[in-house]
This record gives sequence, structure tokens and C-alpha cells, in this order.
Amino acid sequence: LLAIPANPKKKLHLLQNAPGLNPKTITPISQHGLLHFLQSIALKSPNEPFYIFDLAGVAALFDHWSQSLPTVRPFYAVKCNPNQAILAAMAALGSNFDCASRAEIQSVLALGVSPDRIIFANPCKPESHIEFAAAVGVNLTTFDSVNEIEKIRRCHPKSALLIRIKPSDDGGARCPLGNKYGALPEEISPLLEAAKSAELPVVGVSFHIGSGATETGAYSAAIAAARGVFETAVRLGLPPMNVLNIGGGFTAGPQFEEAAVTVNSALKEYFPAELNITLMAEPGRFFAESAFTLAVNIIGKRVRGDLREYWINDGIYGSMNCILYDHATVACRPLALKSNRKNPTCGGGRMYDATVFGPTCDALDTVLTGQQLPDLEVGDWLVFPKMGAYTAAAGSNFNGFSTAAIETYVVYSEEGNGTVLD
Ligand code: PLP
Repeated sequence: LLAIPANPKKKLHLLQNAPGLNPKTITPISQHGLLHFLQSIALKSPNEPFYIFDLAGVAALFDHWSQSLPTVRPFYAVKCNPNQAILAAMAALGSNFDCASRAEIQSVLALGVSPDRIIFANPCKPESHIEFAAAVGVNLTTFDSVNEIEKIRRCHPKSALLIRIKPSDDGGARCPLGNKYGALPEEISPLLEAAKSAELPVVGVSFHIGSGATETGAYSAAIAAARGVFETAVRLGLPPMNVLNIGGGFTAGPQFEEAAVTVNSALKEYFPAELNITLMAEPGRFFAESAFTLAVNIIGKRVRGDLREYWINDGIYGSMNCILYDHATVACRPLALKSNRKNPTCGGGRMYDATVFGPTCDALDTVLTGQQLPDLEVGDWLVFPKMGAYTAAAGSNFNGFSTAAIETYVVYSEEGNGTVLD
């Protein structure tokens, strides 16, 4: 890992000079000023939704990772949020990258990141994407089927492989992955033998306990199982493995501390330092979630007795697809820049039962029900903190409302907690 300057000014300087970030568009602000900044954008924007991305938030999380899991190299999972600003920041901070496709590899390489800082961590890849990885020198990938070994042998015979195993426990993950990916215990030996016959080096093991995991014990069980696979490889006469990839599943906050303690102790037990194993992980949510705040405009209102119904210009088919695909719950705060300029955060005022709809003509496009919100007007704003993970990344342009068109404003907040109005 790079030594990241502790001094905020030096850190800002590092990020301002990062390829892919335009120093002129990074606004340094004090924490108190974040709300002010958000308001100033909302007032001058043509009422379109926008994101605020806090570079200081992501830099603080990077520090945090380096302190809590110092031996584990992070490969940021681009799929979680491929926004150019977070990719550029992660590259400048010294992160490596987990890419799932040709396009993700291209966007990371475009920042000047060398291909040996990328893992193509998709166990089932289109052949054309494998050929692309071969052409640009991305030489580490994952697999969990014989068919994938054959594709890699044909399209990228110089690639090294990690065998992805299915963890026995999904850690209570919000998005378990084990029903789709990971070799079962009885499949491991045949897969290792197939790779050996194909003359492809299996250099290590990877797993993912599932995204949004809550029970950290799942890491211990998976790390222990990975050790078993290292031993199986030796028994089968393969060259000794030397890479362990513990995947993602981390969420920033107290649960990360708990996960780090569990991971460190399992690593100490099953992969002690003297084995000289390269340890890596593929965190996505950990870095992206809290660094992005979304502001949306109220474009419609209906009053039904005491119920207030609002339409906003982003929804389930856009950033809030996380409610469906990521099983997320979202929360919002009012910013009444039109109806209540003197007290835009509406503290202390009367609240109403409210429903918030997205902009498309589908009733499924309902973002929130049973919310307590003030009596807002068309033109007021709702602010959604912690909207960086699996939001814009999976949005569509259904009904012509394009998530890809949402502007991101990059700031560097003094406190670096990333989240406006939290
Ligand atoms: N690596 C792989 C292979 C994944 O499929 C995912 C998420 O689906 C991630 C990493 C990132 O996981 P998380 O956001 O939970 O850290």
C-alpha cells in the first residue's frame, strides 16, 4: 500500500493531482459547509437530481482499511460504483481493482492503473472479454467450472487462476452469492486437476461470503476452508498456492471493526505470516456507500387528507434500484428550498404521513411509504445519504429517466465522514 499523507492538506493535494480528477471541480469545504454547498447546487441546478461525492470520506475509509486489515490489499469492486471520481480517488490512494467485465477493465486502465493492479474476478466471463484481458495484460482471474478453464486456456493461456469456493456460511448476507458462484467441496479436486491438465497455474483461492454480511464468523469458516484447498493442491501435486482472496461483504462502521478482528485472527491461525501468502480482498460497499449523497427534486405532489404523496425525479428504475436488487432500505431528509427557505431542513415543523414515488409510470416505482415528512412543495428537495453502493451502477433509463445522466459534484469535506446531513 502507498503511504497516504495523514495531513488533510497533503491528502487533498494527492487527490487533486489524481489522473481522472479535475482539481478545478473539487470543492474543499468545512463539514458545516456541506449542507450549504448542497443547497447552492440545488438552487442553481435546473432541478435535476445530483450526487455529492466526498473524497475525504473515501480517503478516511482507505486509512481505516489500512489500519484494521494492514496485510490485506484492497481491490475495489468496480461494480459497486463505477463513477469515474471514486475510481480515480481509489487509484490515487493506492487501491487495486476487481473488474467484472471488459468495460470495467477499460475504465480502470484509462486512469493509468497498471494491469497487474487488476483482478478479473468474474468466475464466468464472455470469451471476448477474456481475450481483451489477455491483450491488455490482466493476468489474474477466478473460476469455478471446468468450462471456464477451457475458455481461459483457449483465450488467455498466460492467465493465473484463483479457484472460487462456495463458503459454507453466507454470514446473514443481504445479497448471498453462494447459489450462483463457488466450487462445492467435492468439486475442488476435479477442478484443480482440470486446471493442471490445461497447464494453467492455480495460484490461490478466492471466496465471497455475500454482500452486506452481518455475521463475521462466516469469514473464519471460509478462511479455514481455503486453507484446506491449499493442502488439497499440494496433495494433488500442484505447485504451492500463494494467494488468498477474501472477497467483499464488508460494511463501514462498527461491523467493520468486528469483521477485521475475525479476519485477522483467522488469518493468523490458518495463513500465518511465515507462509508468505499474498492476501487480497474485493471490497465495494465498504468504500462506496457512505461517500455518496443523492439529492432529488420533488416534481409532483398530491394531497389526500392528511396523506402527502410526492413524486421525485429519481426512483426504483434509477438510483433506488438498490431497494430491489441490493435489498436496501433508503432514508431521506427534506430540503425545503422552495417552500421554507428560512428553515429548509424543516426542524420542529408539523410532519405528515407521506409516500414518495419515482418518476416512471409504473406503480412499482414507489421509493418510500409511511414516511414522516413536512408539507413540501414541488421544487423542494429530498436528500438521501449513503447512496453510493449498488445505486447508480445498476440504474436504467426506463421511461427516458437516465441514471447515467445524473451529475456528480466532488467535494473534500474537512471532517471526512462523507455524508451530507447524516
Ligand atoms: N467481488 C465479487 C466477485 C462480487 O460479486 C462482489 C459483489 O457482488 C464484490 C466483490 C463486492 O462486494 P461488496 O460490495 O459486498 O464488498
